[in-house]
Amino acid sequence: MSSNLVANKIAFFSTQPYDKTFFNKYNEDFGFRLDFFETQLNPQTVALIEECEIVCVFVNDIVNETVIKQLAEKKVKIIALRCAGFNNVDLEVAKKYNIKVCRVPAYSPQAVAEHAMAMILTLNRKTHKAYNRVREQNFSLNGLLGFDLFGKTIGIIGTGNIGKAFSKIALGFGCKVLAYDIVESDEMKKDGVSFVGLEEIFKSSDIISLHCPLNDQTKHVINTTSISFMKESVMIINTSRGGLIETSSVIEGLKEGKIGYLGIDVYEQEEKLFFRDLSADIIQDDAIQRLMSFPNVLVTAHQAFFTNEALTQIALVTFNNIKSLLAQNDIENKAALLV
Ligand code: NAD
Repeated sequence: MSSNLVANKIAFFSTQPYDKTFFNKYNEDFGFRLDFFETQLNPQTVALIEECEIVCVFVNDIVNETVIKQLAEKKVKIIALRCAGFNNVDLEVAKKYNIKVCRVPAYSPQAVAEHAMAMILTLNRKTHKAYNRVREQNFSLNGLLGFDLFGKTIGIIGTGNIGKAFSKIALGFGCKVLAYDIVESDEMKKDGVSFVGLEEIFKSSDIISLHCPLNDQTKHVINTTSISFMKESVMIINTSRGGLIETSSVIEGLKEGKIGYLGIDVYEQEEKLFFRDLSADIIQDDAIQRLMSFPNVLVTAHQAFFTNEALTQIALVTFNNIKSLLAQNDIENKAALLV
């Protein structure tokens, strides 16, 4: 790879003020030239890239065949994801055009796992409602009844870095933990987690938390059929990717009362909504509006990763990934190199 000024320039897409703060701070040790674009990367905005071999993208940037083809024409050599999930990048096409793709595999699994537990506690004990109520001098407890987490069964789908961290938290609360993954973890079994089939997770869990990646096998894993197996008043938590849940099925489940609680940090159509202030706009997405209208649904806007520790790791690992690729066309941590 060339080591001139062009090779040292990174074009960042979907940047927020905090991205600039963290990447500028840690760039002092690396000396890259950073070009920040607030806009999402997509077939229209790819034209913004000028004389640059590296692009840095986030969860909702569109890195499909059309975009990658244009990136290749612009001589881009590296696509650096500053996140763990990579479902928005067509890896086969990147490979075809000889573009390296890297990611930040585990910047802070605790950040996401802790947010999943925060959603469970909020939905259960309704602290968000209590906060508003007390501010209006309403000290009544009616409608705030919760349940003990101790002794309840939590089912985890996907036991990688985040699922593992989440299982430790759930065990700490005295929950019985069931797990499903295509690869079972001996370490988790030693901790007391039982690995079971997917159907058993649906049938036996009081709370189901999703921590697997979005791919062809996992898309819409929460659908009408899987919901039909679940316990009455089940709680579903999704801090992974929106596409794991078939939104229309979950709305039906909530209307029927089968789903008692839903906490989502991710949403199938989130790229048109999340990470922006739309408070003065008319939202055209009726499904998210319906979801937000339920009293037992909590939506956060893809903030599970959003801790000081995670943003520090994201900046450092992204820069180190790029540095390694420029120097030796490889990355020591194999999980960071996708293509
Ligand atoms: P990871 O790669 O460490 O773990 C993923 C696990 O899912 C692996 O154990 C893998 O075997 C398992 N898996 C793969 N296919 C499966 C299938 N068909 N069924 C069941 N399990 C399957 O990833 P991670 O760091 O734990 O992250 C998990 C997901 O969390 C990411 O893919 C990403 O989409 C999401 N995430 C969200 C946020 C956020 O801010 N909300 C932040 C980081 C990551």
